[in-house]
Amino acid sequence: MSNNINWHERAAALRVDGRMVIDGMRVASQAGEMFDCISPINGQRVAQVSRGYEADVHRAVTSARVAFEDRRWCGKAPAVRKKILQRFSEKILAAREELALLETLDMGKPIQYSLAVDVPSTARCIAWYAEAVDKIYDEIAPTADNALALIQREPMGVIGAIVPWNYPMIMAAWKLGPALAAGNSVVLKPSEKSPLTALRLAELAVEAGLPPGVFNVVPGFGHEAGEALALHPDVDAIGFTGSTRVGRKMLEYAGRSNLKRVYNELGGKSAFLVFDDVDDLNRAAQTVAGSMFFNQGESCNAPSRVLVHDSIADEFVKLVAAQAPSYQPNDPLLASTVMGALVDDTQLRTVMGYIESAVNEGACAVAGGAQTRSETGGYYVQPTVFDQVMPKMKIAREEIFGPVMSVLRFKDEQEAVRMANDTNYGLQASVWSRHIDRAHRVARALRAGTVHVNQYDEDDLTVPFGGFKQSGNGRDKSLHAFDKYTELKTTWIRINPA
Ligand code: NAD
Repeated sequence: MSNNINWHERAAALRVDGRMVIDGMRVASQAGEMFDCISPINGQRVAQVSRGYEADVHRAVTSARVAFEDRRWCGKAPAVRKKILQRFSEKILAAREELALLETLDMGKPIQYSLAVDVPSTARCIAWYAEAVDKIYDEIAPTADNALALIQREPMGVIGAIVPWNYPMIMAAWKLGPALAAGNSVVLKPSEKSPLTALRLAELAVEAGLPPGVFNVVPGFGHEAGEALALHPDVDAIGFTGSTRVGRKMLEYAGRSNLKRVYNELGGKSAFLVFDDVDDLNRAAQTVAGSMFFNQGESCNAPSRVLVHDSIADEFVKLVAAQAPSYQPNDPLLASTVMGALVDDTQLRTVMGYIESAVNEGACAVAGGAQTRSETGGYYVQPTVFDQVMPKMKIAREEIFGPVMSVLRFKDEQEAVRMANDTNYGLQASVWSRHIDRAHRVARALRAGTVHVNQYDEDDLTVPFGGFKQSGNGRDKSLHAFDKYTELKTTWIRINPA
């Protein structure tokens, strides 16, 4: 049905309320300032959005604190909290077309994926944690007869969630789901590059029955609203997803303020290892292209370092390069488009800078390498594949966050593992081999939070998502995410003998 929608007409008719959501209401920022929200599709303004400062963050944190202390949310019976979160999820699905359009206009991804991936994944995440609310039990320790020791999980209090622009709704949901299900209050600071869906989510939550103050959204810039939230002395934990550079700052802010818990989900430079005993080289090429170019390459887990055995590298590079034409960027508001626009002009320049550095350092572009569709006023880059990349080159070491793949060659298994682990990051990796011993051996040796074998895109809420090393310390998704937003409390009770 959504295939017949004229999204340009819908976009033209859209009226966006860019005010923040505090205490269950739309409010202007205290300074009354707004910033322009520019669409990367054409460089035009979509909306004006409230620019949050310290005073606004303080107001939101105070509202969240009051809501937590009077137990209007955490004090409700688990079955009631479950029902409200389920309604929240249903409302997200009911607003599917509006949310998808906002997401696409705001950050440039194809409308078909906003509809088929971002909105349903967000709704599913909230529903999944809703289901967990009345199914998790606490523990009783194995103590002697004269005592009873209860080990319970309690909500932490006020959670600050700071998220990036590449999957604005999904990243928010990965924090909101477990934090709200555990009974906390949340203040969400979306990226200044993609604040629109977060504001609608907060309204839908209130409509679903989430009490006012439990979920607040303060849009604004990182060094203003983001820093104020991370420094706030009444925030108990920060759930951060973003760059490793800003993740470092989160730890500093915690040290400078109240030692709040900091859970960082950061960048990646994931390795995709193809051995000469791979079962189906063509499937490996299709998979790596699909995962690399999805979301314009703006995925933290994009397999941007492809390590291929020398003996099959030439054939593999041909197969991957042949995939590139099917990912050519087009208008994100057309139902058939598979690659959209990069989020903004800054990101476009960053990506083009990496492409230039690769050429200067001697890598060989076998596909793409250029900006495209500049006549639209938007920010588009061709899907790009570099061969002959050396481990020391900048494109092999730094996260690009655009549609640029590097192919490196290895001679044997030892060298492959050494090259794969030779990075500050450790988010994901993939091993392609038909031999079970090798697949297991290499999977064990790789220093990454998730290792795929003979596939890349399998994913589910049931498994944790997060990285080793400088890819972060927290884990989003799965029941493990509750660890981040709860405190463990022991209660000792004396039992007197009869
Ligand atoms: P970013 O670090 O620039 O910004 C992320 C968020 O932090 C934004 O809301 C921003 O406003 C805020 N921020 C920026 N400076 C701040 C400051 N000084 N104080 C407080 N807040 C500040 O990252 P980005 O460009 O929005 O997102 C891309 C990055 O996110 C990539 O590195 C990507 O790998 C990473 N990412 C990681 C995961 C994961 O699960 N590991 C998922 C998605 C994206």
